[in-house]
This record gives sequence, C-alpha cells and structure tokens, in this order.
Amino acid sequence: MSKMQQVVENIAYAEHSQPHNLIADELTLIERVRDAYLSLSQVSCTACRYCMPCPNGVDIPRIFDLYNEAIIYDDYHHPRWAYSSNIPGILKEENRADKCIKCDQCLEKCPQKLPIPELLEKAHAFLMAKD
Ligand code: SF4
Ligand code: SF4
Repeated sequence: MSKMQQVVENIAYAEHSQPHNLIADELTLIERVRDAYLSLSQVSCTACRYCMPCPNGVDIPRIFDLYNEAIIYDDYHHPRWAYSSNIPGILKEENRADKCIKCDQCLEKCPQKLPIPELLEKAHAFLMAKD
C-alpha cells in the first residue's frame, strides 16, 4: 500500500470516529493491556506529565520511560546509551535525574503518588551503570 493510500484510509477512518465509540469489551482490553504494562514496569508512571515542568529541568517521564524500557525488555544497552549520550531530542545532560534538587514540588502533582525524587535517584544510578 502506498503512503498516499494509507493517508486516505486514515482520514476515512478518522471521519467515522466519534467520542465514546469504543465498545465495553474494547475498553476492558485496553485497560488490561495498560495494567499488564504497568505491572511489568519498575515505575508505574503513566507519562501523564502532570509533574512537568520540573523547575530544575528534570525530564521525569522520559527518565522513567527509559528505566522501564530496560527492565521490561531486559535490554539495558539502548536505554543506558540514550540516557548517557547527551543527544538533543532524546535526553540532554541538563534533563537527567541527577539535576533533581529534591524540592518535592512534583510529588503532589503525581496522580500515581510516586516518590519521584527517590525513584529518580535509583533510575540515574541504574542508567549510568556500565553494561
Ligand atoms: S523534586 Fe526533583 S524532579 Fe521533582 S520538581 Fe523538584 S527538582 Fe524536579
Ligand atoms: S505525574 Fe507521575 S505518572 Fe504522571 S508523568 Fe509525572 S511521574 Fe509519571
């Protein structure tokens, strides 16, 4: 299928989409997939970004995503490379977890009640470790 055909199909699909048109079984399935993902995760961060922006520049959800990726897929190489390489668009040095000054401003904003500064410390130690 050409890219143009894909675009046409996507537009046609979007035109028929409406709010609340998922049936109960589909919603249950989505919920189960989400629960399974979170149960495998080291940190049950949903990437909602309510904790952002951090006044000290820490990219909290991105760091937890890399940490979870390493644990879920049992593959540390890519997340550790992505965390430590200082690449704009992936994660810059000034957005790493060691920039957290434990001001605790993010704590009350997290709907998952995650102990964010503590988890950031663990994530940083893990992601900076050598393979
Ligand atoms: S505790 Fe750390 S991560 Fe949370 S807002 Fe303060 S500096 Fe940012
Ligand atoms: S508010 Fe909590 S769950 Fe949402 S992105 Fe931040 S750490 Fe993750």
